[in-house]
Amino acid sequence: MSKYRYILFDLDETILDFKKTEQYALRGAISDFGMESSPEIEELYSKVNKSLWLRFEKGEITREELKRMRFETVFGGPGKDIDGLAMNQSYMDHMAQTGFFIPGAESFLEKLSKTDLRLFIITNGLSYTQSGRIREAGLARFVEKVFISEEMGRVKPDPEYTEQIIEYIGDPDRSNYLIVGDSLSSDIMLAENSGMDCCLFAAEGKTFPAGYELHDITYKANGYDELMAVICQ
Ligand SMILES: [Mg+2]
Repeated sequence: MSKYRYILFDLDETILDFKKTEQYALRGAISDFGMESSPEIEELYSKVNKSLWLRFEKGEITREELKRMRFETVFGGPGKDIDGLAMNQSYMDHMAQTGFFIPGAESFLEKLSKTDLRLFIITNGLSYTQSGRIREAGLARFVEKVFISEEMGRVKPDPEYTEQIIEYIGDPDRSNYLIVGDSLSSDIMLAENSGMDCCLFAAEGKTFPAGYELHDITYKANGYDELMAVICQ
């Protein structure tokens, strides 16, 4: 059936469609603030947000700075007074109302939830938005527990993050755990730092991130059929 007992899934771009959510929420916030969106603005926001998240994961900026800076960097500037935190709140309100699955994710989880495996979500996202999206998507049907970094006080790839999960599950044997995710800097590094196996995931039609060859990756899966084969080997 499976050589693992516990599967720890990343949320964004592994189970839920973050790109779609981000676009929906960003357009909502831009509209709330009386501005017009464009593909260029959406692209710029996505870039800025990603680089700020990397800085946050490295501990260079705080969560509050991340929330504020991502909007002030893109929409502020000389003569443009933007309340970054207020715009962030509008963005998060819109985001918390979405629960978009990556195509195929829902039936994949449904199948897997009927096995003996214990399934968990591990996410670095913000508590308010992730809780809303998890509720909207109805993920409680499939997984036993969701670990959200903001509530844990630890961020992937900090090995303390997995220590808390191990403590909850009560099984210190790391060979029973498999971490599945799309990010080298958070998911794959977490597995490396925790001595657990991992599967780098890319949704169907997506490519693996640049530089993945440099990491100690147990498996790679492109799409949910391949991921199912990895988990149920
Ligand atoms: Mg992810």
